[in-house]
Amino acid sequence: KAGRDRFVGLTPIDVLGRVFGFPAFRGLQERAVSRVMAGEDTLVLMPTGGGKSICYQLPALCRPGMGLVVSPLIALMDDQVAALRQLGVNAAALHSELESDESSRIRAELAAGLIDILYVSPERLLSPGTLGRLSRLQISVIAIDEAHCISAWGHEFRPEYRALETLPQHFPGVPRIALTATADPRTRDDILAALAMPHAVVLSASFHRPNLIIAARPKGSEMKQVVSALERHQGEASIVYCGSRARTERVAASLREKGWPACAFHAGLSPIEKRAALHRFRSGEPIVMVATIAFGMGIDRPDVRAVIHLDMPSSPEAYYQQIGRAGRDGLPSDTLLLYGGEDMTRARYWLDQSAAPDSEKRVMRSRLEAMIALTEATSCRTRALLACFGETMNEPCGHCDNCRNPVPTFDGTEAARMLLSAIYRTGQRFGALHVIGVLRGKVSEPATRNGHDRLSVWGIGKDRSESFWRGVVRQLIARGALMMGNEHGGLMLNEDVARPILRGEEDVRLREDAVQADASSNRGSR
Ligand code: ADP
Ligand code: ZN
Repeated sequence: KAGRDRFVGLTPIDVLGRVFGFPAFRGLQERAVSRVMAGEDTLVLMPTGGGKSICYQLPALCRPGMGLVVSPLIALMDDQVAALRQLGVNAAALHSELESDESSRIRAELAAGLIDILYVSPERLLSPGTLGRLSRLQISVIAIDEAHCISAWGHEFRPEYRALETLPQHFPGVPRIALTATADPRTRDDILAALAMPHAVVLSASFHRPNLIIAARPKGSEMKQVVSALERHQGEASIVYCGSRARTERVAASLREKGWPACAFHAGLSPIEKRAALHRFRSGEPIVMVATIAFGMGIDRPDVRAVIHLDMPSSPEAYYQQIGRAGRDGLPSDTLLLYGGEDMTRARYWLDQSAAPDSEKRVMRSRLEAMIALTEATSCRTRALLACFGETMNEPCGHCDNCRNPVPTFDGTEAARMLLSAIYRTGQRFGALHVIGVLRGKVSEPATRNGHDRLSVWGIGKDRSESFWRGVVRQLIARGALMMGNEHGGLMLNEDVARPILRGEEDVRLREDAVQADASSNRGSR
């Protein structure tokens, strides 16, 4: 058989070998492929580098018709198309940066049914001309790559993605597969709702990346800390994330003065400057990319050996994505998060000031608190990070900073138990402030209205300051015993972790520096 449907009739495993040269599926690929082959809508959650592309490329080839792939970034599309063409797959990309003759060539091939897989940006896909042309074709599968872009809660929201909810009207009966490396349960629910596929099969891989060495340290003399982290990776590629454009410029200049091949990257660069910086990064030469979060999606250099955060990310999801750019080749890679109380208060302040709707602010706030909690983890940091995504690791990772150098702690079992039972008895609906108020017996209207002043936990923690309790809350979040971020920003117990503590089966060590530091910074408010 020739033409677009030449693989129809072959099994996916055959095509995996023949076209892609892989002897076997990896992880969830086989399950994802078979769901889509059966015509079902699917959501695939897999960390970066996990092999998401195969999940839609195989059904695109094996089902009759052309595969349609929605992708948010031109660079990303062009890379995928080039890789597929090398394998003999006729792939093409439709986006705003095409030359007009290229565009008409693709149109002709589309009309002739010659294209196997078409990558398209969401706005282009839903433009009347393209939609008209595509809806006349047989479509094998619609893949929505980087599907978290559809979620306003996500850290890479793309308003254009919202319009994808209309896909089933334009392409009735065509199975859809959404893919993302964002593991956060809330974003996942949002994707399913926004794509109108509530009954989709959800396949979620482990987000553990054992080759990433996770470490965090309080900020001291920042530049010295950065340089000493970079020193282990001379002649290699590293990324240093900063919180502002101006800071990337300053840090890059200062690194260059010290002889490092540093390059700033942020959204304020001209397209030419951006392209030059990306080109240098991709070329494989040694480089220290000093960047804002604008440097992100589609960055596909496999041998990044270190990712350093000079400023704390706004959520565990963003943090995970950013450190995930290290070690895509699977070799050990360092990460270092530098954090300070000032960062945290500044981030909280800006959130409070932000014009976002309250519901959105609550979610952003709970993510920020989870991020802060991560910095204060006393036990395995890798485990604490995965717990943010609802993933339980049975054993500590053994190689994060806390696994290697245990931190000074005190016995906080009693305090943890008090807090957990206060949350349980108040119905797992209230935020930290309210629960702490109950523990400290602080009279308030909501406490009285809900009868919380009659509970056995009322006032049992009044010997301790509010800031002490805040420290305990954050640490229990870090430990995975508490989750924040239900619809109302309330605290909930994570049963698996919380129950043994409540039953007295497990002791809780808390980080000394966390409750102390917190106490001193809040002295005025006692
Ligand atoms: P993601 O999109 O999840 O970041 P990719 O689809 O780019 O990941 O795949 C990551 C890498 O894994 C690629 O280099 C790809 O060639 C390789 N890969 C994917 N599937 C397999 C497989 N079944 N066997 C071997 N290598 C694979
Ligand atoms: Zn660890």
